[in-house]
Amino acid sequence: MILNEQVELEIKDAKYIIIAKHQSPDWDAFGSSLGLYHLIKDNFPNKEIFLVGEPDEYNLDLWSKNLDINIVKESLLITVDTANIERVDFDQKKYVSKIIKIDHHIVYENNFGNYNLVLENTIACCEVITLFALDRKWKISQIAARNLYKGLITDSNRFMYEGTSSSTFFVAATLKETGINIQEIYSELYMRSFQCAKWNAHVLLNSILSNGIIYYVATNDEHLEWVNDDLKFEQWKSVVDVFNNIKEVKIWMLIYPKDDGTFGVSLRSNKYSIVEVANKFNGGGHRLASGAKIKNLDEIPAILNELHKIINEGERK
Ligand code: AMP
Repeated sequence: MILNEQVELEIKDAKYIIIAKHQSPDWDAFGSSLGLYHLIKDNFPNKEIFLVGEPDEYNLDLWSKNLDINIVKESLLITVDTANIERVDFDQKKYVSKIIKIDHHIVYENNFGNYNLVLENTIACCEVITLFALDRKWKISQIAARNLYKGLITDSNRFMYEGTSSSTFFVAATLKETGINIQEIYSELYMRSFQCAKWNAHVLLNSILSNGIIYYVATNDEHLEWVNDDLKFEQWKSVVDVFNNIKEVKIWMLIYPKDDGTFGVSLRSNKYSIVEVANKFNGGGHRLASGAKIKNLDEIPAILNELHKIINEGERK
């Protein structure tokens, strides 16, 4: 039986379905969760589905907290947009009966699902989910399409990143055909507060550029000062995008404090593969967009050293 067929069968047979995404969710994670939730509801209306982990503030009522352990034990867990099991944002994950992993990240360690629907060459997990729905000839409602479209455009940076393919545009066209309002979606996603615009300017003005690498180290005080209702944490850390399209910059990086006392590292490039460096520093992701984690700031010179090596090797080729 082909994988898509098997995955559909598991969904049909499951008594309960739990959908979980990665910690610190971005819009591909939210869009995949909400998109898959609505797709399953569109096609199997009586399925009991639980969304878990950090909720999307606009759909709070859809998210479940503290699921009964007996339900968890009889559940099929579908993880979306998450490469490794440690990053799956669901405290009770070890008790579920089966796991389907749906993802588009490069597989670094082993796949952890009983079934793994992983298409590394897609730009977004929302693309994988839409291709799956089309393959199974599922009905796609506007609400499912809206959410899937959001993941598609955010992970591709509005169809700009390298991984954007004819399949991405095919999926976008399919979702658009449901009648979704693209302008409304763009304005929901990209309208910024003045606070956010000022944070972007602050980071750009205070960053360090040396030999093709630009980076900024955001502090705990800056977190306290800038993050509020006008500038949510995810938007605060996505300031890394401010370094894109600068002629002198080959690799760019944001280092930011996390709640557990460690530091997150967002790595980006439009030419050099940085995922191997992310792997060396407890992370992963994609060739040109990856995340890592360091225990303290003393590790920054080691990361810079690895990044400079990549640039130097690239120049010699
Ligand atoms: P970020 O820099 O957090 O925006 O992440 C960039 C990309 O790398 C996203 O697709 C993340 O899902 C992925 N990523 C971030 N951190 C990790 C990690 N620790 N392990 C695997 N993938 C990661």
